[in-house]
Amino acid sequence: MSDKRERDAYPTKSGQSRKVGMSTFLIHGKAQTARWDFSHHTVPPLSSSVTYRLDSAERGGRGFLQFGRREEEAEPVYIYDRLDEPTRSILEDDLAKAEGGEVCCSFATGMAAISAALGILLKPGDHIVAYRTIYGCTYSLLTRWLSRLRIDTSFCDFTDLEHARAAIRPETRVLYVETPANPTMELVDLGALCNLRDRINAERPPEQHVHIVVDNTFASPYCQRPLEWGVDLVVESLTKNICGFGTDMGGAVICGRRYEEELFMYRKDFGGVLSPKAGWGIMVYGLSTLTLRAKRQTETAFKVAAFLEQHPKIAKVHFPGLPSHPQHDLALKQMRSTLGTFAPGTLLYFETREDGEEPLCARNLINWAARHSYCITLAVSLGNIRTLIEAPGIMTHAALPPEAQHAARIAPNGIRLSLGLEKAEDIIDDLAEGLEQA
Ligand SMILES: *Cc1c(COP(=O)(O)O)cnc(C)c1O
Repeated sequence: MSDKRERDAYPTKSGQSRKVGMSTFLIHGKAQTARWDFSHHTVPPLSSSVTYRLDSAERGGRGFLQFGRREEEAEPVYIYDRLDEPTRSILEDDLAKAEGGEVCCSFATGMAAISAALGILLKPGDHIVAYRTIYGCTYSLLTRWLSRLRIDTSFCDFTDLEHARAAIRPETRVLYVETPANPTMELVDLGALCNLRDRINAERPPEQHVHIVVDNTFASPYCQRPLEWGVDLVVESLTKNICGFGTDMGGAVICGRRYEEELFMYRKDFGGVLSPKAGWGIMVYGLSTLTLRAKRQTETAFKVAAFLEQHPKIAKVHFPGLPSHPQHDLALKQMRSTLGTFAPGTLLYFETREDGEEPLCARNLINWAARHSYCITLAVSLGNIRTLIEAPGIMTHAALPPEAQHAARIAPNGIRLSLGLEKAEDIIDDLAEGLEQA
């Protein structure tokens, strides 16, 4: 490369020209370019920058001061990816809207989001009352890790709020539930639970208030928006229904503005941020198609539930959409899609009819699916475009000891099915063939 090429003149940030070498230019490019103007994009930009040019020390200072209090109108000052970042913050604005919350703080995974929500609410000596039927890793987080910080958890049956109320102590700060429960599809009445919290909090000073945290991963904001019932914080895995394609992991906490600063500070210091590259896919492909996918998957769940319920080798089908579900009326009230229709979810849980102690029929069906099915995949996770089958007792919920599984009503012959986007009739054909030989 000639000397001349090596020292061309390029405009500086203030518009004057400056001679620099090509190697320098290739790092800085044209310092000012309309290419940074994202306002004309139809697809949000996949921004990937760890650190941000701050224009002046004062603007940098303002960014640090503003951090954790993201006013909607204020011009964002991005400083460093772990603090805040454009692609992720666009996704957060969209998710906050989807769940009907004021703010959203995203995380690298659903578990990072759950840890953060509990992390900002609890300190040593505090107590949690949790639904006894919860995601295996959440159970492990409470029993293995939070217990080390002297944060105890009582597990109880939130389908009976009297049972939950009896477990609440003066030092209880969090009521933690999943509805529909994973995998049993039992429901918690969120309106009634919020009334219970209000009655308790009315007798306590604000620093001793009880907060309700709901994991909305199973339903997704398409089927149910717990914040509308008065819940304090929603946590969810973006890895499941919201990403939908099984390509990226993520998590989110959605809540009122009063938790915003603590959440963003917690994320900054514990560091479990969502990668902007993952966030971009979740936003551009996942969130934008959520209602379409979830609507179709819910319709399929109705058809598959009806097929299974009449099958002689099936003892019981747990699906809030079936009139035989003990909480069908609650489902009709609480699980409404963003379109206003009945949306009892995209998952089923069912129990095979077994002759002896061993769950042979269940095992045979699952192993048949793993080897011979065309459209049912043996895999954990849920809310995927592919139909996924698994045995909670020995897979997703293996972290629960046998007594805890029994209390959570997780049966050895229980099978969880997460409906994908395949044609319902094709899924039913596969199940029929699998049950035939089971
Ligand atoms: C998968 C899942 C989580 C955890 O989400 P990750 O993104 O895998 O960390 C939490 N809760 C429920 C109900 C889940 O299904």
